[in-house]
Amino acid sequence: MTTTGRVSLVGAGPGDPDLWTVGGVQRLKEADLVLYDALVDVGALRRVTKAQCFCVGKRARRDSVPQETIHRLMIRAAKQGKRVVRLKGGDPFVFGRGGEEALALAMAEVPFEVVPGVTAAVAAAELSGIPITHRGVASAFLVLAGHTSEAVDHTLRSVRPNTVSIVILMGVGSRGDLASKLMAHGWSADTPAAIVCAASTPEAWTWTGALAQLGEAAPPAGLAGVLIVGEVVSIRGILSGASRLKQAGNEVSYGRKG
Ligand code: SAH
Repeated sequence: MTTTGRVSLVGAGPGDPDLWTVGGVQRLKEADLVLYDALVDVGALRRVTKAQCFCVGKRARRDSVPQETIHRLMIRAAKQGKRVVRLKGGDPFVFGRGGEEALALAMAEVPFEVVPGVTAAVAAAELSGIPITHRGVASAFLVLAGHTSEAVDHTLRSVRPNTVSIVILMGVGSRGDLASKLMAHGWSADTPAAIVCAASTPEAWTWTGALAQLGEAAPPAGLAGVLIVGEVVSIRGILSGASRLKQAGNEVSYGRKG
């Protein structure tokens, strides 16, 4: 079988098409087939590309397409000579199973490339006014997936409490447990914490407070969100007051002011 097509694994950023890269938009313009994740702005997608577009991500009450099916769809289309874009939320290789998709393409000998995207791990914090590193406050940040509790424990054991910023993806649902876990690992109860949901979208919602209160926060249901823990959260109070351009919409502040 001849392989003249190709697959581009493209990062779509946290939501706002403003954060798509020039390279990503170019691949979309040239594409014949686009397989996109649930959080991608479909209206913007259709304005950019004439390709056939299919959502393969999880949508309200509908399961996502199984990973193996996504691999099969990409490989088959590329082998038919199509230019395929696999448009993934954030950056393709940050918790997005992009590595698995790249491996499947490599195994199938399909030419592919990765076009990095703006990851929510950093963008959610910065769009809500939190510099994830800050001289004298945090010189490192740790990005964790909150849904695998042993992995979280394992990582937290290797970090000295209250020395770095922590960003937790896929952890809003277990925020109370995660806060308890951090405190059990020695993080102080009054460490500044934030929840940032739907960053860069009109539904953007931010809560700030103390780590011990994280479980009591009530983020709107159904929005993707990150948890941010560390002293850097307290810088937000100054920055969000000063920067009036493109601010996140909804605000909740609780306990120790963020
Ligand atoms: N590859 C993606 C992450 C995929 S995991 C990236 O680099 O951003 C999905 C998780 O990303 C969600 O559970 C949530 O924690 C986070 N996320 C994605 N979009 C977001 C957004 N707009 N605002 C806040 N968090 C977001």
